[in-house]
Amino acid sequence: MTHQAATQEQLEMHGITKISHFNKARIDLSPRTRLETVRKSSEDFRHYMLNLDKPVAFYQSIDLIRVPYPTKYGLLNASKVWSPFMHIMNRMFVVQFETPVGLKTLLFSPSDIQGNAETPFFKNLDAAWGPLAKPMGKFMAPIYNDVEQALSKVGLRPEDIDFISYDHLHTQDIRKWLGSNKQKGYFPNAKLLVMQQEWTSTQSLLPPQQQWYCPNGIDGIDPGKVILLDSSVMLGESAALVQTPGHTEGNHSLVANTPDGLFVTSENGVSAESYSPQHSNISGVRQFARSTGMEVVLNGNTLEGGLDQYISMVMEKTIAGPSKRNPDFSNIAPSSELTSYWGFPGLKPTFYVGQMKFGTLSK
Ligand SMILES: [Zn+2]
Repeated sequence: MTHQAATQEQLEMHGITKISHFNKARIDLSPRTRLETVRKSSEDFRHYMLNLDKPVAFYQSIDLIRVPYPTKYGLLNASKVWSPFMHIMNRMFVVQFETPVGLKTLLFSPSDIQGNAETPFFKNLDAAWGPLAKPMGKFMAPIYNDVEQALSKVGLRPEDIDFISYDHLHTQDIRKWLGSNKQKGYFPNAKLLVMQQEWTSTQSLLPPQQQWYCPNGIDGIDPGKVILLDSSVMLGESAALVQTPGHTEGNHSLVANTPDGLFVTSENGVSAESYSPQHSNISGVRQFARSTGMEVVLNGNTLEGGLDQYISMVMEKTIAGPSKRNPDFSNIAPSSELTSYWGFPGLKPTFYVGQMKFGTLSK
């Protein structure tokens, strides 16, 4: 399944172009220099995108499912909350953007709820509850929409989707969407946009990674449906996928220019306060930021590269800039957002991003 990263010419056929803003940002031996170089490159990139002044044609985020997630990972080392679990709301993002080769539709983070349940971490959680697993499922993981329902609520058909993408492939089973072993996929025209590093990692996992990757989740997928990226890229002039390694080595983040500013989406942080811990009201988080000097709180379940993830989160919040709704926080739209729940007391987000919608859908 190994194949080459797409060339500039191949990407242009899809309305995608490589960008070089971050190419030399992480090569210095000094971590402090790397952090400040990435911060400066992110400021430059933010101005570049804002100056293009080309908002996406349409943007909507839709709730899919709340999943239980260990608090110790979600707010790594920062929270003093007793609850061992938090709820994170998995969302899907529908983004339409103009390109020189026409309007394109991207689904970011379309999670196959049933397929993803095979991920070892969730399987083990279920096994631990034994016969209680089924009733616990409703309590622990209430479903709001599956991808098919979300899509029809938005008003799109499967054949309208040009691209799907995920910030990384933890928990993802994408065979249903793209097809595998000659079985047809649900999205007949969609191609996966993925970093070459993430695609390679998924086929060659070490034990620290295995708990979080869905076994066989990419098996038998036609390489012709996968666009491998080896660089940050612009999607038309309205959105971008920027390399944000750390949470996984092949992580990337979605940047979308909207009427409410540049929204940046990934799972590097689980909440707006992960990027502004100094303003958090969750027990422990503000003190953690003060006592350590850390600017961000990592979502650290595997910590493939802790320093890189730290730098990537500073990158994300610098690109995002301040939220229009509350400038104490950055304009981040986490793809899995910490969401309060009576079952997990003490974990109420200080600033909740929630679902969003901008622009007009084209069909
Ligand atoms: Zn992850």
